[in-house]
This record gives sequence, structure tokens and C-alpha cells, in this order.
Amino acid sequence: MSILKQDVQFIKGVGPKKAARLNKLGIKTVEDALQHFPRDYEIWRGIKKVANAVDGEDASFVVTFVGNANTQKPRKGLTITTWRAKDDTGYLWCVWFNQPYRSNMYSTDKLYFVRGRVEYRYGMVQLQNPIVEEYVPEKHDGSKILPIYPLTEGITQKDMRNLMAEALKRVEGSLNDEFPADLRKRFKLAEKNFAMRHIHFPQSLQALEEARRRLVFEELFFMKMALHLIREKNHSNNRGLSFEWDHKAFEEFVQRLPFPLTNAQKRVVDEILRDLKSGRVMNRLVQGDVGSGKTVVAALALYCAVLSGYQGAMMVPTEILARQHYATLKELFDGTGVKVECLVGGMKNVEKESIRFRLATGDIDILVGTHAVIEDGVNFKNLGLVITDEQHRFGVRQRAALQQKGQSPHMLVMSATPIPRTLALMFYGDLDVSVIDELPPGRKPVKTYHVPPSMKDRVLEFIKRQVAEGRQAYMVCPLVEESDAIDSQSAIELFETLRRGELADLRLGLLHGRMKPAEKESVMEAFAAGQIDVLISTTVIEVGVNVPNATVMVIENAERFGLAQLHQLRGRVGRGEHQSYCILIADAKTKEIYERMKVMTKSNDGFEIAEKDLQLRGPGDFLGVKQHGLPEFKIANLVRDIGILKQVDLAVRQVLQQRDNPAYKALIEYTMDKFNEQLNEITFN
Ligand code: ADP
Ligand code: MG
Repeated sequence: MSILKQDVQFIKGVGPKKAARLNKLGIKTVEDALQHFPRDYEIWRGIKKVANAVDGEDASFVVTFVGNANTQKPRKGLTITTWRAKDDTGYLWCVWFNQPYRSNMYSTDKLYFVRGRVEYRYGMVQLQNPIVEEYVPEKHDGSKILPIYPLTEGITQKDMRNLMAEALKRVEGSLNDEFPADLRKRFKLAEKNFAMRHIHFPQSLQALEEARRRLVFEELFFMKMALHLIREKNHSNNRGLSFEWDHKAFEEFVQRLPFPLTNAQKRVVDEILRDLKSGRVMNRLVQGDVGSGKTVVAALALYCAVLSGYQGAMMVPTEILARQHYATLKELFDGTGVKVECLVGGMKNVEKESIRFRLATGDIDILVGTHAVIEDGVNFKNLGLVITDEQHRFGVRQRAALQQKGQSPHMLVMSATPIPRTLALMFYGDLDVSVIDELPPGRKPVKTYHVPPSMKDRVLEFIKRQVAEGRQAYMVCPLVEESDAIDSQSAIELFETLRRGELADLRLGLLHGRMKPAEKESVMEAFAAGQIDVLISTTVIEVGVNVPNATVMVIENAERFGLAQLHQLRGRVGRGEHQSYCILIADAKTKEIYERMKVMTKSNDGFEIAEKDLQLRGPGDFLGVKQHGLPEFKIANLVRDIGILKQVDLAVRQVLQQRDNPAYKALIEYTMDKFNEQLNEITFN
């Protein structure tokens, strides 16, 4: 067995107990350990003199302790131990919290190496919770770069460093370089063994940079190559349904729509229809900014499926959206004989049973629903088309689960979240893309304002004026945590405050995740029917909700939301003929918050906002890379490494173009091998 595949517990100093903890970090083998890259580095720039200590800087000193340590208990549960130390230039105070044992650990006649964050307090140099080690010149002198690893309970930084040192010792020199020498040379890639050593224990910043570049290149290369191979596979071997439908009936339906399609909608519908009759499985992403009219495009695709004798299914992330789409589709298909049903988790069992039965017998043509649609026991008679709306809320796995409800049905995924072009290539290498790059006519851009919390009274006055003109408003409450319960609570509180106070004269509605499905539904219905003036809500309304008469979107604590999310929320207004407004209430405590709010007030363009979001937050946070169903990157950062990505594109192209080259052929085979599991998960056929 290769050393790389050996269990970590056999590494010196690990053992079964630590191995179990390491497993929690996904480290099972020696290889996993080596792939557990540092998240950062600590740079030691030699020993400082106390007199040269700089406030706020991490620094090391060599000192002796003076006199005795002093431990105080200012209150219950807190002890503060201080000990004065000095070098030949001045005094330094070491301060430890809740570590009274420190006072017995050191003596006054030895030299100690101390390291920590320097703070100037009351004119004194202080180190809080410093590292203290007996001074050993060979160990402590000179500068060095130490790795900082992501940890888990029971595993310290020291454990991790020992593990890596041991693991490296075992494999050093024997790591196989996946890249042939000519590619390494052309793209200036460091050799694999060098890269592995210096990513963990860099000898210099230069070596670290080279190591990192090589490993980022490698990671992006295999991902791109794998996506490319998936695409090839999907396009060569995806025999699918070939829809045949009554074109006259279809045209009549288009004519009967409440509005003419925009040119962009027409173009995208054409692209879809071409796929549907092609005999190859459609795997298409429809991207269109909020309000660009994706629902009707979906409806047309569904109608085409039904006219061709197949069933269609549409999966959406929230119950509110499921019910809204259900209502929209019912209205659109009124008089056509198409039978639409809705399936959501909150329904009664008997209702669900009846829907399941009618689906299996083919009595239902189109099913709209939440995740409930992909549960076991939901079986279709002849599912021909599956659609996921607001696709960023679903993973590849869920998309695939829906598709597996039929025999190679066509698939359409719809997203308002504009993935920046660079990411789109990464994430949707397996999909064809259609873009609705035009809004329906007559839309006025939403006017967006950023105001401080102190201006809330004026915001409420503004809402009152809009309501007096017959309009409606949303107020979205702070997202406190990823907790439904807490968010719901803050919505309830805001609702109560406004109902008793400033907005007592208006008809207020409340919507949050903790309400029963039927309650949510009736509130949404009342809001859509204009019986509620102001809807106070959590982010449950974030996606898809469409009430064109609503013209004001107030977002409290807007600084707590990501830009993509703010843009989605703003997309709830500006859906009709009236001028709409989005008011971001945010305390611009930091420059970053200020910048984010500025992006929102300056731009209404989802693509632009997404690019900015990516720059400001990085791709890890951007919607959560995980949600896209692709493995998270271990080391690459698509913002920082955009330059490397371009080089990777060149390399992938070179390898694919010269497949006869045995070294390249081996590289392609290696990619398939390495990504075998993922390839299966991502493939749709
Ligand atoms: P989204 O792309 O955000 O899902 P929707 O499908 O909800 O957008 O459409 C937003 C609004 O625009 C809806 O009220 C819809 O009826 C309307 N709409 C869609 N297409 C057109 C069009 N071609 N002309 C006028 N209004 C349209
Ligand atoms: Mg939508």
C-alpha cells in the first residue's frame, strides 16, 4: 500500500484517540493530512527588543521574569495573573486570564522566550496570554514562518505541526508529480515534493509563494479538467426524449399570455425548445436578473412537455414560492386543460397521498413543490421535464435527485443569482447557459438609499406616504443568526412595536419561518390581494415572491446581509409600473459596510453586484461554495487566484488538444480516476 493511503493513526505521535479527532477534520490518511493546508502563517521576524515593541504587532522577546507573579480575582469566574519581565531595554508585562498556574511555572533566574500580541496599556508594554518557552537560541533565534492550521477539539496547533512534519518525513521525495515536465516548465510550476514541503513549512516567503501557486494550479486544473470531461460525456452520450408537440396550440398559448414576451425571453424559449426536440437530454441553466420574467419561460417549457404527452415538475426552495408559482401556473393554464398541483412538506398526509396517487397514474400534468417533490414515494408516470427555480438554494445532488424521478428527463435550472462569469465556468461547466438580459418594458430602476438607524422615523413616514398612495411595503428584519427561531422572534418584536406605535393606523402583516404553512399562505395571499399594507418579515420572502403593487423594501440591519441577498430582497419591489424604493438601514461602522451599501445604492445590475460581492467577501462566503454541490477548494481562492485560473485554462486546452501525447493521456486518465466519485455525482444521465 502506498504510504499516502496509510491511516494517520500510525504516524508517530498520533494513535487511535487523536486519529479519531483528526477524522472529524476529514483527515483519515497520510494523504488527507498533507492536503490539510495551513489557513494562514505566523511570521516570526526574529527577537525584538522591548524598547522597539510596536503596539498591535505580534512579536517575540527574550526576557527574565522579575519578582513574583500577582494573581487577582476581580470577579467570579475571572482570575488575572500578571508578571513583570524585562530585557536590557525595558519592562514588559505578561498577563494571563484564568491561568493562575502560570505563577508557578517560571523562575526568575532563567531566560525565557515570550511571544504574543503587543499592547500598550497605561504606558506599559503588555503581552496578553503570551506563549512562554525556555529560551533555546538554536530554536528561537532567527526568523521563521510557521503554519497555522484549521483545528478541531482536542487537536492543538502543535499536534498539527508535529503531524505534518512526520507525514512529510515519510513521503518526502517520493511524491509523484502529476504534471509532465513540459507543462511544469511552460507554466512555471514548482515540483510536487517541493510544493508540499514549503506549503507546510516554508523556508522563505518566496518558497511559500511558489508552493502555493503550484498547488492552486493543480487544484484548479483538475477541477476544470474534470468538468470538461463531464461536459464531453453529457454531450456525446445523452440520448434523451425527443418532444413532439402541437405547434399551433403552443403558439396560441403564447398569444394568450397576459403580456408579449420580451426579445430575451423569446430567444431563451427558442433555445429551450430546440433542446427539447433534439433527442439529447437538455441540461440548461437560465440566468436572469430578479424580475426578468423567468417564471413564464418555465411555464412555456412545461406546456411544451405536457403537449408532448409528458409530465413536468418544478422544485423551488420555499413553500411560499411553491404556492405562488402554483397560483401563477394555474392562472396561466386556465382553460387549457393542463392539471397543476402543489406538493409541500406542510401538507396533510391524506392530501399528499392523493397527489402521489394522481401523479403515478398520470392524472397530474405539472407538479410544483418544495423538497417534498424529491422524497421517496413520489413517483411520476412519465416525467419528461424537471425544473429547479432559484437554483442557488439547491445542490447538485438535489437537482440530480429530481431528475432521477424520470427516465432521462430534460432539465432546466433557473437562477436569479448572477454568478460572475469566472465562477459560472467553474460551477456550470456541465450546463448550457441561456441568459435573459432584458427586463420587461416600463420597469423603472429601484431607487436605493442607505440611511443610518437614527433616521428610522423618516423611513416610517415615507412608508405611510406610499401606503396613502395605494402602494404596499415590505420590512425585512435583521438576520441575527442562522437560526429561524431567533429571526422569527425579531420579526415578531418589530411587528408588535410598529403595531402599537408609529404604524398603528396601517394594516400590518407578519411573516416568519416559525409560522404554520397555512398561516404563511394566508398572510401572503392577503398581501398579494392588497389587504395588508406593510408586511413585516424575515428573509423567507427573499426568493421569488412577486407582488407588483409593493414599492417599498426596507431592510433593517442591512449590514448583516450579503450583497447577493440584498439584491434578491430588493428584487421583491420594482416589479410593476410604479417607481419603487429600497431603503437600507445600516450603521456604517466600518469602511467595508460603507462600501457594500455604496455598491447597492450605485448599481441595479445583478452581475455587477455579484462581481463586487465576490471581491469583497471572497468565493468561500459567496453563497457558500458548498451549495453548488462541487467540492470546496482546499487551497484555491477564485478572487485572489484569477490570474492562475487563466493559465489553467491554457493548460487544460493544451492537454485536450494533444491527447495523443502519452503523458497527457495519462493525465486525463488520472483526472477521471481522481474525480470518479464526483463525476458520478455531477453527471445527470
Ligand atoms: P423572476 O425572473 O424574478 O422570476 P418573474 O417571473 O416573477 O421574475 O416575473 C416578474 C414579473 O414580471 C411578474 O409580475 C411577471 O408577470 C412579469 N413579466 C414577466 N414577463 C413579462 C413581460 N414580457 N412583459 C411584462 N411583464 C412581464
Ligand atoms: Mg422567480
